[in-house]
Parts: sequence; C-alpha cells; structure tokens
Amino acid sequence: MSAIATAAPTVPEIEDDRTSLTKEGLKRAFFDHLFYTLGKFPAIAGKNDMYLALAHAVRDRTLQRWICSAAEYMDQAPRTVAYLSAEFLMGPHLGNNLINLGIYDEVREAVREMGLDFAELLRQEEEPGLGNGGLGRLAACFIDSLATAEVPTIGYGIRYEYGIFYQTIIDGYQVENTDKWLRYGNPWEIRRAEWAVEVKLGGHTEQYSDDHGRLHVRWAHDKTVMGVPFDSPILGYRVNTTNTLRLWRAEATEAFDFSVFNRGDYLGAVSKKVTSENLTKALYPNDETPQGKELRLEQQYFFVSCSLQDMLRLHLIRKLPLEQFDQKFAIQLNDTHPAIAVAELMRLLVDEHQMAWDDAWRITTRTFSYTNHTLLPEALERWPLELFQRILPRHLEIIYEINARFLNDVRIRFMGDESRIVRLSLIDESGERYVRMAHLACVGSHTINGVAELHSELLKQDVLRDFYEMWPEKFTNVTNGVTPRRWMVLSNPRLTGLITETIGDDWITDLPRLAGLESHAADAGFRDAWRKVKRDNKIDLAALIRRRTGVVVAPDSMFDVMVKRIHEYKRQHLAVLHIATLYHRIKSGRDGDIVPRTFVFGGKAAPGYHMAKLIIKLITSVADVVNNDPGVRDLLKVVFLPNFNVTHGQCVYPGAELSEQISLAGKEASGTGNMKFAMNGALTIGTMDGANIEIRQQVGAENFFLFGHTAQEVQEIKSRGYRPRDFYEANAELRAVLGLIQSGFFSRGDQDLFKPIVEGLLGWDPYLLLSDYASYIQCQERVNAAYLDAEAWTRMSIVNCANSGQFSSDRSVAEYCRNIWRVGPRPISLHAKEELQSLPPDGAGRYGRYDR
Ligand SMILES: *Cc1c(COP(=O)(O)O)cnc(C)c1O
Repeated sequence: MSAIATAAPTVPEIEDDRTSLTKEGLKRAFFDHLFYTLGKFPAIAGKNDMYLALAHAVRDRTLQRWICSAAEYMDQAPRTVAYLSAEFLMGPHLGNNLINLGIYDEVREAVREMGLDFAELLRQEEEPGLGNGGLGRLAACFIDSLATAEVPTIGYGIRYEYGIFYQTIIDGYQVENTDKWLRYGNPWEIRRAEWAVEVKLGGHTEQYSDDHGRLHVRWAHDKTVMGVPFDSPILGYRVNTTNTLRLWRAEATEAFDFSVFNRGDYLGAVSKKVTSENLTKALYPNDETPQGKELRLEQQYFFVSCSLQDMLRLHLIRKLPLEQFDQKFAIQLNDTHPAIAVAELMRLLVDEHQMAWDDAWRITTRTFSYTNHTLLPEALERWPLELFQRILPRHLEIIYEINARFLNDVRIRFMGDESRIVRLSLIDESGERYVRMAHLACVGSHTINGVAELHSELLKQDVLRDFYEMWPEKFTNVTNGVTPRRWMVLSNPRLTGLITETIGDDWITDLPRLAGLESHAADAGFRDAWRKVKRDNKIDLAALIRRRTGVVVAPDSMFDVMVKRIHEYKRQHLAVLHIATLYHRIKSGRDGDIVPRTFVFGGKAAPGYHMAKLIIKLITSVADVVNNDPGVRDLLKVVFLPNFNVTHGQCVYPGAELSEQISLAGKEASGTGNMKFAMNGALTIGTMDGANIEIRQQVGAENFFLFGHTAQEVQEIKSRGYRPRDFYEANAELRAVLGLIQSGFFSRGDQDLFKPIVEGLLGWDPYLLLSDYASYIQCQERVNAAYLDAEAWTRMSIVNCANSGQFSSDRSVAEYCRNIWRVGPRPISLHAKEELQSLPPDGAGRYGRYDR
C-alpha cells in the first residue's frame, strides 16, 4: 500500500522500556504509535502515518529530559530568558531533534531495517513556516543555542494556523497559496488548555477609588479572547536541557459565547467564536508598509498579554514576591512587534496587582531589552492613534503617562530644545497621529542592540540618534549568528563528516575550532575531498531544481545563488542586470572565457509589494529567454526555485559556490543567509553591508569579492543629489542591457511590462543600482577568473568555512547572556522515570493546586 515500504515491515520482539534507544526499542515504539496513536496497521498506513509514528516515537524520547528540565525550573526558579517574537521560523523538527538527541544514525538504521525510506519519511514533515525570513529564523537559531548552552529559556510566540504563504510560480508570476501546515496534525506540540489565559480588547476605561480612597483605573473592555498555549520541546545539542517554545492560539471564551447564546442567538455565538479564532489565523507577510492592520495590532497584543500573564503565573506559583519579577525574567523584544509589552507589564502591575507606578516602572525597565532589526525608516512600526485607542484604550493612557514622564526628563536634560521633544515623543504628531513602537521599546528597555556592527553604529548615528544622545549607555551590538547544528550538521552531513574526520567534532558546539581546517587548505588530498563534498551537494541541489522547476542544470557549472526575501533594497534586479550583461556579451560574440554558470534565485515577495513581484517576473522572464537560447551554448542557466523556505535552504546553502549579498550598503541590518553560505564553503560577492563586513574581516579581504559604494559614500552621493542617468549615459553596456529589457526582448515584445523597473532605475533609483553596476560587473569578472583556477577556489572555500566560527548563534547568545540578560547555565540532571511518575502520598501535585 505504502509507496515507501520496500519490504513488509516486521514487528520486533517485545521490550520493556518504551523509550529505549536501541534499534529494537525504536522499531517497537514506531509500531506502537502506528497502532495506538494513529490507529493504523502497516498495510493501510501511508507515508504520512509512517512519519507521524516515527515523530511520536522520537517525541517520547524527548519527554524525560523535557519533564526533568521543567521540574528543575519549577523547583529552583532560576533566572529565565523569555524571548518574545511574533515569528519563529523553525523548519522541520524531526531531523534536528534526532541530531540533538544523538540518535540520528540509529534511527536511520532502524527505519532502513524496517524497509522504509528514511529521507522520504523526513520529507513528509510540513515545515512550520511561522515567520517571514531572517528575523523569525534568528529566533529559531537563538532558542536552539540557548538550549545547547543550558540556559533556562521560554520562546513565546503565536501559533498561526496558516504560516507564510506557499509560493508557486505560474506563467512566471508569484501566486500565493495558503500554508495548511497543521492539516495532518503536529506531533511536536502539546496543548496546555489548563494554562489558558484571558485577553481583553476594546471598550473604554473608568476610574474608581478603592476602600482606602486610592484612585485606580478599570478597563471596561468589550471583547475577551482566550489564549491557549501549545508547547513544543526545544532540545539542546547532546545535553539534558530541553526548553519550551510556547505558542499561543486564540480561542473563544465560554463565558463570552454563553452571553450571546443565552439570547437565543446560536449562530451569532458561533460566529463570534469564529471571530475570536481569526486572531491567530494567519501570519502577516512583511508588507511594504506594516501600518494600519487592525488584526495585526490585536495579534501582537494578544501574544504579549498571554506571555506576560504566563510569566506572572509562573512567578507567583513559586511564591516569589512581584518585586523580584525582573530578577527572575529577562525579556527580549525581537523587534517592535512585541513592544506593547512595556505598556502591558505596567498595566498588569499597576492595575491588576495594585503596584505603585514608580515601582512598576523600575521593574519594567529592568526586565526588557530590545533588538532593532531594520534601517528602513518606512519599516518602523507605528499605529494610528485612533486605531490604538479603539483596541487598547488603557494602554494608550499608560503610554501617555510614560511619555509625559519621559519628555519631562528630556526637557530637563535638553533645556529649550523643543524640536528634540517632538522627535523623541512616543506620539508622532506631524500629521495623522501615530504611536511609535520603537520609541516605546527604547524608553521601556535597559538595553538596545543592533544586529551587526555597522547596523548598531547607524542606529546610534541615525535611526535612534536622539535616544543615543539621551542614554548612550543603553546601546550595544550583538552580531547575529546561525546554529551550526541545523545549518551544517543536519543539512550538510558530507561536510560535517569530512570536517570531523579532520579536526574532531568539538567544532559543533565551539565553532571557532573550525580554524583548525585552515592549515589543511594547503593539502591537495584534502582539497580533493572538499571539492567532492561540494560536487555531491551540487548534484543534490540540481536534483531539487529539476524536481521543482523541470530545469536541468549542470553540476560542473558554477552555482551562483541568491536566496532571500525579494526586496528592492536587496537588489535581486542588480543580479539580473549582470545576467543580462553576460547574455548580451555572449550574443555579441564577446564570450571570452566566461565559465558556465547556474544562477539560482529563491525568495518570496510580500503579496502587496508590486515592485518585488515584478522583480520575480523579470527573473523568470530572463530565465525563459536565456535557458531556451541555443546561442548561449549552455554557458548560462537561470532558475527561480519556488517557495524558498528552511527545508529548501538545507539543500541550497550546502550546494552553493557563490553567495550573492549585494544589498545597498547601509540597508541590510545583518543578514544571516550570508553566514550559512560561508560556513558551507561558498565564497561571497557582496557590499560593505550588515554582517558582510564582519565576514570579510574574518575570512580576509583576499577571500571575499567586494564591490560597491560604502554606506558613507551612499550618504554622500545622496546628499549631492544622485542622478542615475549620469551612470546610464556613461556606460554603453548598461545602456545596452537596460535597452534590451525596455525593448520587450525578455517580455515577448511587451514594452510596458518592465517599465516600472526601468523607469524607476532611470528616474530615481532609490537603491543606487546604476551607481554600483560597473563595480559589480567588474567584480563578477574577478569571480569568473578565480573560478577558472579550481585549486585556488577550493583553498578560498576552505578558508571561508574555517573562519566562520564567529557566526555561530552560540556566540551571539553567549553575548546576550553575559552583557544583556545576565543569566547563566542551569544544567539538568535526569531523574528516573519511576521517580517522576510516582504519585505523592496525598495525591496532590508537588506544587499544590497551582493551576486549574
Ligand atoms: C536564513 C534565511 C533567511 C534570511 O536570509 P538573508 O539572506 O539573511 O536575508 C530567509 N529565509 C530563510 C528560509 C532562511 O533560512
């Protein structure tokens, strides 16, 4: 029946321990889950049943560690990191959990012995795409590294029913489809209905005085939604620590349903239930401008309120005084999406726990820290005052109070500087009034960080300059990183094998040890082995490309890859200008020694971002012409890999040879894709932007292809008055290439299709493509020349990997722990299951009745 059963599976002998790690124990658990959890027997089980049975068997093997971690945290109440993020782009769990548990090979063997295809089983998992890109993926890398560092952590976020849309390409255009990732169930999560919390929305506020005549404010809300936590285990790598990712789902409250129901309006009650559940229905794709989406503000407030109430519950059941809250929790705001937490914690402490304002404010500002993720002014979140007032009337009052006190301090510090007051205010009053979320985050946090050195500098000089002048001591940098467990060990087993054979396996949790590879770059045998790894990875990537696009690409061509969200500032269209330039050269008989290249693009455009969607159409249109022109003699192939996500990334980064990191300098906060490429041995062509600068510093200028204006030069060009036409007039090849696009050559004669792109470039060119074009083309010529010398290229590839140790998220979280959160490891010892399962004599839980 099942397409992947190549032989009839046999049920192994009975064994006692249901979480045994032996192959026989694993097989037993697999069949038990197929039978008892899924209600299937092998002959009628499909691939997905097989995946689910295996996933449940693996989840069982995480539970002892998870429960021991939870028990230790409950008993000892260690200082805990709460990482608040509206996005967690986790990627599939199964393979990663096998790696972190240290049972990957055993399980693969057991699965093989049962006659099943292990890779095919892994492919069944629908990836939880609960993020847009870099920011959500960073949160996922950080909670992996925190668990590995044995730091007590809870990741708090939203359990979107639909994650980031599923992208297909139809007729060269992006088409969005819903991502029904929960369709077949999620074996990794446990619903904790007993820890649900209520979240209020809307209404108005009222003052009242208590028995002592003190004034208080009551929030007379008009809507209540229930937040139900869904927990997934986050395993550290080969340690017992197993932390929790707690994602909130909105559900209707019973009380709320009943009030409508009692009026006899059954359908009305049901439809209100549906309305409540809409709150966590879908992830918002990063739009051009994030403003004005009512449901999004509700989502943000919802998950923040749930999370803070949950932390207060945990704090209070441990019988700790509220005044110690900031000693027990370090809360990180991953961008401004959770920034409303500053006002919500104040509300909870002042209104619900009757704390004095000044005490509450001291606790709040000692609890929060804020990570900024963007240098694009249009991407800074602000909410129309009217909308904010309607949904969160009490929070607006609290924000006014915070603002009044803050601006008083500003007045005293900068006497008479009224324009500074206007710039710093939490309320933007320049036109329609807005609440500025970044300002709320800055005022409410003890530490503010950027995500790469240049970004942190630009925050101080530019985006958050007034805050820097107010509180220079709050500002710091933590350069991003990525987890080597997912991005090397899991996704690149060949490279992992070669590295471990050569320098041992300590690098997996101590990435700077990769430096030990550098001396082997001089060894021709090692270079051969390195090249073979890359070639095999390229063959895998070519197979993925063929499966997804039907295009056949040559593994011997250079794999030149640009995968990331589609955005004008990232400049995918600059890469297209390069391809069109090569094409034009070949067609005009000036192909010289152009090495065969395969250009791989991937990434999603926000559904409302028309220019980004047109860039996708440009890529696919150029691909159509180039790939079908016998005149380019297979020198060039261009593919757009649809639906780029973590799963695809695991195949793409290991198979890449050239990493395109070509954003306009001063626009990309950090980038993390750049790091994944470098650790997997790709060379970078890039601008002096984000973490590219630090990568180049680490790997050496001679092993990095640098081009383009610096952030400083960009500022100067812009302040002089940038005239893209001057660059156009001065460069014949650029004129020819833009002319090709303009003439309809890539659009079957349609001269209108790409007009917005061409006219945009010639008219104002906000991301300075034309001023960087010549430098980029020359740099690509150096890349071409370097690739002709395979030995030298391999040496550079090894050196890139060997010097990528800085870019482990283990290093990033260690810096956060030391400098921002002031939190340390809390190793977990395993208790025997018998001990964990024994009932206390009085039948009550160890912690009394601390929940429902
Ligand atoms: C790493 C990653 C990103 C971020 O890529 P950048 O090149 O840093 O923008 C986006 N999406 C996915 C799926 C990733 O894995």
